[in-house]
Amino acid sequence: MAIFDRAIVRLLPAVPRPVVQKLSERYIAGPELKDARETVRRLNAERKLATIDVLGEEIRTEEEAAAIVRAYQDVFADIERCALDSGVSVKATALGLKLGLGLCRDNLRTVVEDAASRGNFVRIDMEDSSTTDDTLQLYRELRAEGHTNLGIVLQSMLRRTLSDIEALAKLAPSVRLCKGIYVEPPEIAYQDDRAVRASFVRALETLLDAGSYVGIATHDEWLLGEGRRLVHEHGLERDEYEFQMLLGVRPQLGDELVADGHRLRIYVPFGRHWYAYSLRRLQENPRIAGYIAADTLGRMIGRNGS
Ligand SMILES: Cc1cc2nc3c(=O)[nH]c(=O)nc-3n(C[C@H](O)[C@H](O)[C@H](O)COP(=O)(O)OP(=O)(O)OC[C@H]3O[C@@H](n4cnc5c(N)ncnc54)[C@H](O)[C@@H]3O)c2cc1C
Repeated sequence: MAIFDRAIVRLLPAVPRPVVQKLSERYIAGPELKDARETVRRLNAERKLATIDVLGEEIRTEEEAAAIVRAYQDVFADIERCALDSGVSVKATALGLKLGLGLCRDNLRTVVEDAASRGNFVRIDMEDSSTTDDTLQLYRELRAEGHTNLGIVLQSMLRRTLSDIEALAKLAPSVRLCKGIYVEPPEIAYQDDRAVRASFVRALETLLDAGSYVGIATHDEWLLGEGRRLVHEHGLERDEYEFQMLLGVRPQLGDELVADGHRLRIYVPFGRHWYAYSLRRLQENPRIAGYIAADTLGRMIGRNGS
């Protein structure tokens, strides 16, 4: 990213919320469940799978966490009623992790059980490193209780990831592998993109060797090439792995994967707690400075012209 873009990224939290909302529209299905439903319908028609995320990491109270649980129950009912091809992604913080591990465990169990009763699947997103141990523990505990319809996310930027894969190997976990979006210190995370990529390839190879189902979550063309190479070398059938991308990011690359016969799942966030997610997406957009400049200019012209 150019110096100017990096400077803009640092300034993003100072950008007015309505501007952030407008710039991040393409990353979010909308505020309501019906918005997610329409987006997933469109994706399914394009032969893409989905994972629906109820935005909610900014919750502060038990009641808000309970509302997120209910929102997921509505999502499962809707997926079944409309015969959508979609699972869900949940964040431990949205289910109350910062309010207590026990509360979060109970909420997660409710979501996972509701999903199981409708034949659905729950992926636990991975958040910043202050939550990694708790999130992995929650996953282990629910697996120990006999739940099998849940998966985990591992981040290749974290130095611990290979040892986490070894520690989880006996469970043959379903893993979404991604680079990791959170800013982490050098003691625990690779800072250099080449090292993050190398770690991604090592982790992917180790997971595939161990027979894990992997969601290869990236828009990085080099890594997509490595992913294609590794699934081919492992002789995997179409239903033994998948690629994953975020709504609104490099859709033409996703179309190519689908045209080449790969499974592709799109991450579809919706809901009213859109701010934190939007900031993270904008921070990764290499053209963010241009968008903000164009928006600012547009508003200035609009004001002058009215
Ligand atoms: C399905 C899915 C689920 C994820 N879940 C998690 C999770 O649980 N925890 C977590 O920490 N991270 C998660 N991530 C985010 C991930 O860790 C990366 O931050 C993100 O995918 C960008 O990394 P990349 O591999 O695409 O490579 P990058 O090098 O960042 O991106 C490759 C190229 O894609 C384009 N691009 C990337 N982002 C954008 C954007 N926002 N707007 C426009 N263009 C863009 C750019 O052209 C860029 O050069 C997830 C990603 C995906 C695809």
